[in-house]
Amino acid sequence: MPAAFIGHGSPMNALERNRYTEAWRALGAAVPKPRAIVMVSAHWYVNATAVTAMARPRTIHDFQGFPQALFDIDYPAPGLPELAEEVADALSPDEVLADAAHWGLDHGAWSVLAHAFPEADVPVVQLSIHAGRAADYHLRLGERLAALRERGVLLMGSGNVVHNLRAMDARLPDEGFDWARAFNAQAIEVMTRRPMDAAQLLAHPDFARVAPTPEHFLPLLYIAGFAAATGQVGEVLVDGYAYGSLSMTSFGVGV
Ligand code: ZN
Repeated sequence: MPAAFIGHGSPMNALERNRYTEAWRALGAAVPKPRAIVMVSAHWYVNATAVTAMARPRTIHDFQGFPQALFDIDYPAPGLPELAEEVADALSPDEVLADAAHWGLDHGAWSVLAHAFPEADVPVVQLSIHAGRAADYHLRLGERLAALRERGVLLMGSGNVVHNLRAMDARLPDEGFDWARAFNAQAIEVMTRRPMDAAQLLAHPDFARVAPTPEHFLPLLYIAGFAAATGQVGEVLVDGYAYGSLSMTSFGVGV
């Protein structure tokens, strides 16, 4: 089973059809039907590594100031409680908390999955991003999760390689600032040639501007770890920029 990192951008992509969402649809159509999806979303960034373990994860509308139509979206994919245990086993000895009641599917997950798997018939579990861990930890977890590909599990990361909300310019809906483009090009170079070095991207001189907070970048490290563990490299599924300071680049590994 392959793996993929999706640059999700605005929550409005859940409602829209554009070249990004078409690429997400193409991804869903290209992979063998997964037994389940493990989704690492930027929007579950907490002080633990946790996995959702409920049979019926709720659709979380974790944003404000968007049209009612976005709040009306329900993505009713089931969970898979036994997969939570498989994830914990795969990541041992690092601790994984099973969350049977709190989280669910946040918009980083469902805004993408609503396109990639519109039938919502593939079980989804989310894996949180531990905010207290260094880059190598996230890369290592991605490496270990690669073992689940043999069990029909599709590993997905959802974030943005470049994500600076304060720097966004509404007059530039499809453009990237020079610094955003330069960093994104570096990320593409690393992911497509030497993904095992992806943690070094955090040492890039512009990283603080690219990712004032790292949660949208970190899901990429899980997919880089998957690539490293399986002896593969990433390929660009779709590329582009939004509002100057968001990169919409998505990567597949083995797609
Ligand atoms: Zn986001």
